[in-house]
Amino acid sequence: MRIGIITCRNMTDDMGCSSLMCLDESRAGKGEFARYAEYGGAQIAGIISCAGCPTVLAPEKILRRVRTLVASGVEAIHFGNCMEKLCPFKKKYESILRTEFPHIQFVHGTHEMGTDDQEEALLHFVGEGLRQQPVSMADLIIHLGKAGEDDPGR
Ligand code: SF4
Repeated sequence: MRIGIITCRNMTDDMGCSSLMCLDESRAGKGEFARYAEYGGAQIAGIISCAGCPTVLAPEKILRRVRTLVASGVEAIHFGNCMEKLCPFKKKYESILRTEFPHIQFVHGTHEMGTDDQEEALLHFVGEGLRQQPVSMADLIIHLGKAGEDDPGR
């Protein structure tokens, strides 16, 4: 069965997630992909991240991304575990997507999460990773002591 996966942009853009676990378990027919055994397994037609923070005004932004999966002929779309665990907009997204694409099955989750301890450790790791401050021009300005140096009132 042809399926798609929608993931959290924080995980793909900031954490560099390549969807390894989703892909591995889809091939192995495990986790939330086990349901496709009677259809010959899951064939992933595409994986795409969300459109980023939609603000409270525009949760419909998600449609831009999911349209690509739907156009690729998928019959089901999974919300990645990342979206399931981390996204404050997921209920709104699901409501919008089910209304827009009533012929598509929407499924919660992808791969198995392991034990509660493993899940907690993973979420802790992701939280730490997302909070890290990358090197930026701010560091150069501070390093050179350039802030306001031409300001005569300084
Ligand atoms: S809107 Fe949800 S899925 Fe998208 S980046 Fe934010 S938390 Fe992740």
